[in-house]
Amino acid sequence: MAVHETRLLRRETVAEGTTAFYFSKPSGFEHQAGQSLLLTLINPPETDDEGNSRPFTVASAPHEPELMIATRMRDTAFKRVLNTAPIGTTVSIDGPNGEMVLHDDATRPAVFLAGGIGITPFLAMARHAATGRLPHRLYLFYSNRRPEDAAFLGELEDMERINPRYRLIALMAEPEKSTRGWSGEIGFIRREILERYLDNITSPMYYFAGPPPMTMAMQKMLQQIGIAEQAMRYEEFYGY
Ligand SMILES: Cc1cc2nc3c(=O)[nH]c(=O)nc-3n(C[C@H](O)[C@H](O)[C@H](O)COP(=O)(O)OP(=O)(O)OC[C@H]3O[C@@H](n4cnc5c(N)ncnc54)[C@H](O)[C@@H]3O)c2cc1C
Repeated sequence: MAVHETRLLRRETVAEGTTAFYFSKPSGFEHQAGQSLLLTLINPPETDDEGNSRPFTVASAPHEPELMIATRMRDTAFKRVLNTAPIGTTVSIDGPNGEMVLHDDATRPAVFLAGGIGITPFLAMARHAATGRLPHRLYLFYSNRRPEDAAFLGELEDMERINPRYRLIALMAEPEKSTRGWSGEIGFIRREILERYLDNITSPMYYFAGPPPMTMAMQKMLQQIGIAEQAMRYEEFYGY
């Protein structure tokens, strides 16, 4: 883990109220898919009680030439500054951090449970698995309120054609509020949905990430199924 300086290269809207930020990759920065970094604004024009740093998962995969993070654009000083910073602005990154990386034993499937912006580590892992032709079977359960809120949904759908060992199960909790329409799964991620798509719900390694109410619900559900702590890896995105 080390502190590096990097520059903002560009921004891109990836869902309603959700922006991806691309940064140059400092030489010597190497991460594993699923890891995070601590992003610090240098001399920002405004700040608040939460300070000038936030942890973010690196949503880009290790083989990509740039670093990308994605976040919901809440009205906080940190995000206002990030959203209006001129292209080329220098920021500091400290990392990589975290242990939510894919397990080694490829005979054991990986089940990813993503709540909203909690998709970021799984986007990195899915891109990494597709490009590196990893032998693992991956099941991504991706929950949002509406399709409009689901960052990277198109790419995650298309990835099924690139990686035959990967499966996406997207769920919308409030599809009736969408202007796009939705014909996929409805509601939150729950045991019955896992049972519908997995051959055996007790054998995979489970990974989950999202806002605290979602991660708490996932942990409780997996405990009720009888999944051991060692078979769960998770990241709680506090602040939502
Ligand atoms: C490992 C990790 C990876 C993350 N990855 C992402 C990501 O990829 N994308 C993303 O959007 N977000 C991610 N987050 C969350 C992110 O760091 C921010 O907290 C979130 O984006 C909200 O920031 P904010 O500026 O909108 O709100 P903030 O101003 O940070 O905070 C909003 C609320 O959260 C509370 N809060 C702040 N810090 C803490 C804390 N340490 N513990 C409990 N409550 C706190 C505040 O009191 C406040 O009420 C990650 C967090 C962690 C720990």
